[in-house]
Amino acid sequence: MRKGKLISLALASAVAISGCTLQTTEETEPSETGEVLEEAQDISAIRAQDDFYGYINAQYLYDADITLADGNAGSFTDLQLMLDDQLEQIIHEIVDGNRDSYAPGSNEQLIYDAYYQLLDASTGGYFMNDEDIAYMNDVADQILGTQTIDEYLDVCGMLYSEWGVNPLFGGRIDTSLANSSAGSINIVPFTSPTGDSLELIINGGYYAQSIATRMKSLLIDFGMDEAGADERSLGDASLIMDIANGTDLELVKIISEDWGESMKLSLYRTNEELDELCPNVGSEGIMRTMGLTDNPADGVYLWEEGQLQTIDSLLIEENLEAWQDIALLSFINSFSSMLPEEYGGTELLFSNDRYALDTIMTQFQDQLGEEYAERYYDEETVEDVTAITHALVDEYIVIINECEWLSDEGKAAIINKLNNMEFYIGADEPHEVDPEDEHIIGHSAFDTLHNLNIRQYEKDMDKLINGIERNGFEGMPPQIVNACYLPDMNAINITLAIMNDPFYSSDNTYWQNLGGIGSVVGHEISHAFDNHGMLFDMNGNYNPEWMPQEDREAFDQMADLVSQYYSEQTVLDIHPVDGELTLGENLADISGLECVLRQASNNEQRQEIFESYARIWASVMPKNNALDYLYLDVHSPDRIRVNAVVPLFDSFYEIYGVEEGDGMYVAPEDRITRW
Ligand SMILES: [Zn+2]
Repeated sequence: MRKGKLISLALASAVAISGCTLQTTEETEPSETGEVLEEAQDISAIRAQDDFYGYINAQYLYDADITLADGNAGSFTDLQLMLDDQLEQIIHEIVDGNRDSYAPGSNEQLIYDAYYQLLDASTGGYFMNDEDIAYMNDVADQILGTQTIDEYLDVCGMLYSEWGVNPLFGGRIDTSLANSSAGSINIVPFTSPTGDSLELIINGGYYAQSIATRMKSLLIDFGMDEAGADERSLGDASLIMDIANGTDLELVKIISEDWGESMKLSLYRTNEELDELCPNVGSEGIMRTMGLTDNPADGVYLWEEGQLQTIDSLLIEENLEAWQDIALLSFINSFSSMLPEEYGGTELLFSNDRYALDTIMTQFQDQLGEEYAERYYDEETVEDVTAITHALVDEYIVIINECEWLSDEGKAAIINKLNNMEFYIGADEPHEVDPEDEHIIGHSAFDTLHNLNIRQYEKDMDKLINGIERNGFEGMPPQIVNACYLPDMNAINITLAIMNDPFYSSDNTYWQNLGGIGSVVGHEISHAFDNHGMLFDMNGNYNPEWMPQEDREAFDQMADLVSQYYSEQTVLDIHPVDGELTLGENLADISGLECVLRQASNNEQRQEIFESYARIWASVMPKNNALDYLYLDVHSPDRIRVNAVVPLFDSFYEIYGVEEGDGMYVAPEDRITRW
């Protein structure tokens, strides 16, 4: 997947609740962690008994064109590239059509107008016209002209409601943890406007220095003289260092890397408690930074209480200039790709058609998704996948009932949750066209982006004030090759895009599809009952007590064995997998494959399942990426997702004649089980 394809206009979700994707997108953490095939490797010599993943995938990966996606190739990447081609064709078809035939506010009208606006702007090199530049300078004047902290809070509120920018408290609207049908305000940790982690800023002097340099050039761009900008920028960097020094960096690291752990670490604080924590600006001041006069709920969720107190204590007039600069940089960053050169912008380095296509795929993702579904939705395919899903749910009920370590009460709780699960398979119905939406397209590309940000804010506020409806399709659009479990909805989403080869094909046998899309569905269902899913009840409310204590303890014992098993796996010969970090995904992989294998009645069918399963995880990538992902990605490397999972099943030994001494051999007493 190309970078940025999924970045929505909303604030980045450091602790987004819908974190249980099959594959992490590049928006959060990259995922495909296969290994690089050495040039010299003799592919035909790879035996299934020694390296099942290589045996199935080596030829395909060896032939793959790794120049297409930054050195990456594989099932997900290749399929997403195919999807991107289809999406580009759709956009071109729309923009080559007759504008007059498109209803005002329709997907076609928006895509048509946005495309030509972006094409013209990128051809002429001006995304912002004179009116926009005057507006930008006006906003900058408002920021730099604040006289008091009070005025500053209100300017922050304007930036948030119009640009999704929150330079102070990382506030954003999300599903309430305790009540999944309500929205809530979440205060996530402060991020530096330069994007550098706070840890780097205080541990590596260079980063603090580069903040000062960036701030200085920004101030000069906005009219300050060199000497003034020089002095002021040092104050900016030192304020950010003060925030970093008042932050529990270890905690922030966990919150940003492990959403499940971050749920456990969330703190609910009432508005009165916030007033005590932040005697300086109080709960009311925090609300104002989000454009609100008061909090519709009686409190907020937050994570780093110490940092919040630090920021509150630093919100004094002595620091006002530094706060202004932080807000200015955050504002400019929200549309930096559109800035004119005299404000630090750069010329486009790629074709203007490419720019327009990429931007539409990001900014008009929902509209494009509907157009994609209109053209590619295949009822039979969706019916097939739905039937597979129902068969797997039935199988799960049998598995759970047979599980030896669950109590009767625990089994009943899990089956209840399973019965209350919702399945969003394929794509949502198209939305009703609202002629008013025509006005999303502004007078320039910049103005359109502004309108889209305001639209997003309105949607968020609607969630906060009127509550959240359960619709799993909203979590992931149909054109993304992926699937996810949504813990706050107790729902899974299997996108239309993933219902393609090698995951699903009408030319495949039932068993091949079961090993492909079936194992994906089985994986997602399992997330409802993994170490993170266990925290949410049948209605998607955060409620770890929904399972009896004894079952949770027995679950932990089973999970410890799984963690240990994976921690003994390595990639690139010596680098171990982090069994703790990847636990939830590993449980889902084992569980998903077990569930589909149990559908089969003979080893011919099981062989088709194994081989199709191994094929969907084919991937290749540069070594340095693979190592990076090892420390960041909640999924095990793709090779491990195959080679550590298939030898847990006895039929694998029967089918391939795996014996002690073979690479794939795991002694019977070490073959962990999930249920
Ligand atoms: Zn997953």
